[in-house]
Amino acid sequence: MIKIAVQKSGRLYEDSLKLLKDCGLSVEDGLDTLKAQVRNFDAEVLFLRNSDIPKYLEDGVADIAILGENVLIEKNVDIAVVEKLGFSKCRLSVAVPKGVPFNGPQDLNGKKIATSYPHSLQQYLNKHNVTASIHLISGSVEIAPNIGLADAICDLVSSGNTLFKNGLEEKEILLKSEAVLAANKNSLAEKSELIEELAFRIRSVLKARKNKYILFNIPNDKVAEASQILPVLKSPTVLPLLEEGWSSMHSVINDEDFWTVLNKLEKCGAQGILVIPIEKMIV
Ligand code: ATP
Ligand code: MG
Repeated sequence: MIKIAVQKSGRLYEDSLKLLKDCGLSVEDGLDTLKAQVRNFDAEVLFLRNSDIPKYLEDGVADIAILGENVLIEKNVDIAVVEKLGFSKCRLSVAVPKGVPFNGPQDLNGKKIATSYPHSLQQYLNKHNVTASIHLISGSVEIAPNIGLADAICDLVSSGNTLFKNGLEEKEILLKSEAVLAANKNSLAEKSELIEELAFRIRSVLKARKNKYILFNIPNDKVAEASQILPVLKSPTVLPLLEEGWSSMHSVINDEDFWTVLNKLEKCGAQGILVIPIEKMIV
């Protein structure tokens, strides 16, 4: 049995459970808010605070977990990152009040910096030979400069909206983060079969999310040209239509290429273009 830790509530919660569900794991909605059984996979889900998960992983209380990579770095634990998961993307940045000049890390010398990520900040300061005093705050770090508690902050940023609303400007990016699947190293060796099975499913789901299934009708004499446009997995499927001189082409395309490919296909004479999400993808 593997124990999978996920965030109890917060930014990662929904996407984490959605990912497990898309991997076919049916997590029982029980009365126990701390853990839940998985009905169809040899696993148990533990609901924990994101910031506590590195410690639980290190101690082997959880075998694997979905958590923000930034907390793994902050807690400086010896944990393996099995897979990056592509959601909850953010960066840890230094920000100062708008209008305050900032020409680089050395401008932080002798300053007070508020953060919830003291270890990551200290590493950055050390790297640049800067001495500053770190004020540890557990939440709402962005208000610290406004109330005179700090000269600068070091906090997680995604859209930058919170900084903007508080009159702060992002100046330096210390690290980039996203949700990851991480594992206790002993568990990785001892329970490799179950962990590999889950990692395999996660990879198939993530790959499928990045791709779309596309099908369209096209005159036979344009089939060759259209297949040049499609960045295919192997080779597109071409099926004859009942109507003489026409074919139906099927393929898989990357979400990022989608609009350019669509444009080119239309110019090439494609009609009745359908684009369908893919649930799982094993290639
Ligand atoms: P907990 O309160 O559960 O210990 P937390 O304070 O890290 O954890 P959240 O604020 O829900 O919880 O953030 C969870 C994770 O989401 C962060 O560690 C980070 O990886 C990611 N994240 C993405 N964007 C942001 C953002 N704009 N601000 C904060 N975290 C973000
Ligand atoms: Mg929190």
